[in-house]
Amino acid sequence: MGFRDRSVKSPSSGEFSLFEYVKHKVDLADFLETHIACTLKWHEHGVSAGCICPFLDHSEKKGSFNLRLTEDGVWLFHCFGCDRSGSIIDFCQVYYGLKTPRDALLHICKLLGLKDVDQAEMASYASTEKKFNVRKKMECSHIEVASQCRRLLKKDYKKYSRWVSSAYKRMNEALDKDDIDTISKIGFEACNKIGE
Ligand SMILES: [Zn+2]
Repeated sequence: MGFRDRSVKSPSSGEFSLFEYVKHKVDLADFLETHIACTLKWHEHGVSAGCICPFLDHSEKKGSFNLRLTEDGVWLFHCFGCDRSGSIIDFCQVYYGLKTPRDALLHICKLLGLKDVDQAEMASYASTEKKFNVRKKMECSHIEVASQCRRLLKKDYKKYSRWVSSAYKRMNEALDKDDIDTISKIGFEACNKIGE
């Protein structure tokens, strides 16, 4: 059965979990290489990488585009040049010029031939998502970035200690303001430094 018929028509929890399903299922790194023809430079293999920004209105040579696998198994991207960020859904919405996240979702499913969705797997994502409120997500990102900071200090204490202390300061400010985007951005900066 095509999950499209069942889940996408009504804004039910089924649809919500379909978003989560695709975010967990599609490997953004692989997608960029095979569908967008990006050449990735891995900072840490299978975990974080960078490349030239693939968005057509951001022409650059530097490689400001970064992606990383978060601890809950979802790939996120962030471009330091055009300041776009998000998941595979956000990427495809902008890249293919689609109107809504739902259009992007359908486009991805069509592109990748995702027709037979494992309903049980999908349901499990839906239930994790319910448990994961924003605060929890913030705390997870915070823990993730903190562990990246520790790795940086281990790598070269002298070189990174100043950056790490400023990152902690910015992270604490962001936590106070429930600003998950800033924490995510700091995570991308740390990934880049790990790959230096
Ligand atoms: Zn960009």
